[in-house]
Amino acid sequence: MRHCFLPFFCLLICLVACKKSPEQGSGTPSEAPAKFTDFTQEFLDTLWSYNPGWASYEGNTRYDSLLFVPDEAGTQKKVAAYQNLQVRLAEFDTAGWETSAKMDYAMMLNQLESGVWYNTTFDSRKWNPSSYNPGSRADRILKNVRRPLDDRLRVISAYLAKIPAYMAAGQANLDRPTLEHTQLGIVQVAGSFEAFKTSLPDSLEASDLTPGEKELFFNRLEAAFESVKNYHSHLRQVVLPAVKADPNRRSFRIGEELFKQKFELDLQAALSAEEVVAKARARKAYLHQKMAEEARKLWPIYGPGMAMPADSMEMIRLVLDAVSKQHVKPEAFVSTIRGQIQALEKFVRNKDLLTLDPEKPLVVRETPKYMRGGGAGASVSSPGPYDKGGNTYYNVTPLDDYTPEQAESYLREYNDFTLQILNIHEAVPGHYVQLVYSNESPSIIKSVLGNGAMVEGWAVYSELMMMEAGYGADQPELWLMYYKWNLRAVLNTLLDYAVHVEGIEEADALNMLIEEGFQEEQEAKNKWRRARLSQVQLCSYYTGFAEILDLRETLQEKSGTGFDLKAFHEQFLSYGSAPVKLIRQAMEKGRSKL
Ligand code: ZN
Ligand code: ZN
Repeated sequence: MRHCFLPFFCLLICLVACKKSPEQGSGTPSEAPAKFTDFTQEFLDTLWSYNPGWASYEGNTRYDSLLFVPDEAGTQKKVAAYQNLQVRLAEFDTAGWETSAKMDYAMMLNQLESGVWYNTTFDSRKWNPSSYNPGSRADRILKNVRRPLDDRLRVISAYLAKIPAYMAAGQANLDRPTLEHTQLGIVQVAGSFEAFKTSLPDSLEASDLTPGEKELFFNRLEAAFESVKNYHSHLRQVVLPAVKADPNRRSFRIGEELFKQKFELDLQAALSAEEVVAKARARKAYLHQKMAEEARKLWPIYGPGMAMPADSMEMIRLVLDAVSKQHVKPEAFVSTIRGQIQALEKFVRNKDLLTLDPEKPLVVRETPKYMRGGGAGASVSSPGPYDKGGNTYYNVTPLDDYTPEQAESYLREYNDFTLQILNIHEAVPGHYVQLVYSNESPSIIKSVLGNGAMVEGWAVYSELMMMEAGYGADQPELWLMYYKWNLRAVLNTLLDYAVHVEGIEEADALNMLIEEGFQEEQEAKNKWRRARLSQVQLCSYYTGFAEILDLRETLQEKSGTGFDLKAFHEQFLSYGSAPVKLIRQAMEKGRSKL
């Protein structure tokens, strides 16, 4: 099962491919040679054998029993394997290839460059102790209920045998870790104890493994758990105090140079980080102005019986608070979402915005117990490219575990208006629809190397597109909440850059999110935490959105009144989850139907 919030895997930019000239006018594009198909397979085999956890995540169970040990020798071998593939890939001449193969080529090249960069320049295996947490993957393999239990346990048994060496390498790798990633590691590694203590032994008990297999499993489990616990106490008792006492400890801020490089490699945007930030600043000012316009319209209805404040930010805040009080009852949360999905699908069909495949229904369900833990919320989980028969689920976590106060606060955030925007983003026509199209793209490369800015950008773009098409009948409340939601994506970018490049302090960061983004204190604090633990990922939402809007504008200007929005959407989505920059190159060559 994959989750829509793609954990950030190494994605990267096409430095070489983009320099190649576009398809020549003469001659029709041809398929890539069979040699390239073979190469692609070898590329994937190499990628999976060095990143078996990623393979499992994509639904490729062949690598489930493997665990790559990231010690010095292993890492050097990995980098050399990537470099070898880089050299051989560069030998292909892609002139004349059809578009899809060219995109695959560029994405593979980027992936290899990124793989080298992550394992040499960035080298987070030294400073991020939370990257060594093998228990969570054992748990994930165990919960893949579509395989017989005994098979899963045999695979896990082999996997467990490799954990002690892996933990030893992890501990040896640590070199001036950041305080924040050390604290995260302590929490997350402890979170995996449950799997070793309970779920794995209980499942073993319930299985039909032979007594010999059971004994072997149990011994490996003990040794694995022991090594994980040792690592955990090492973090707590040795690493954490040393990091805290070190006045020159490594900062969680990666700095301008690394940020720029990571931005290019991860997002593969046509714009630089600085250009995106400049655009985000302008968008923020625009959104504040639009919010003031909508709030002014709503003041007579929602204004708390006083004169309208002269300060428009203050006025917006008062109207937002009043509008947020309109929300469903906790017990109606799941059923309301189910109803809204149907309404969204109907709207997309009636307005002819894009084709929805009736054979790939979205199953709205309560989030299974084992997937909960991150609090309430909604997310799409879909079968990976190696598991196309699986269902796509819209997981909605009911508010059962919330106190009345917590439920009230959550429901104000996901009030009657924001909840609709959330459903557009996550489901229709956001992530779920994009995934259906992406799975129809025959290219496994575009699927496994899916670009986070394209995926998030599409979801963010789809919100605006639905509003423009008249969804919600132009209610000012819905527009106001839409702008607030879009402002969050914009501030994600500004915060990320401010944290890692500009050195913003906590108080100023919180102030920005609360005062300029109208966020609750808790939301702002969570975001501050996330911005210290990740880099560039927070930029993906707005970057992809801005790129898609730019592309649409360019093509609109080109075709004037003949612009066909539906054709634009369907062609855009037909390339799988490729970077917007590559999709742009393909679409700008011009297709008559646009
Ligand atoms: Zn209420
Ligand atoms: Zn999203």
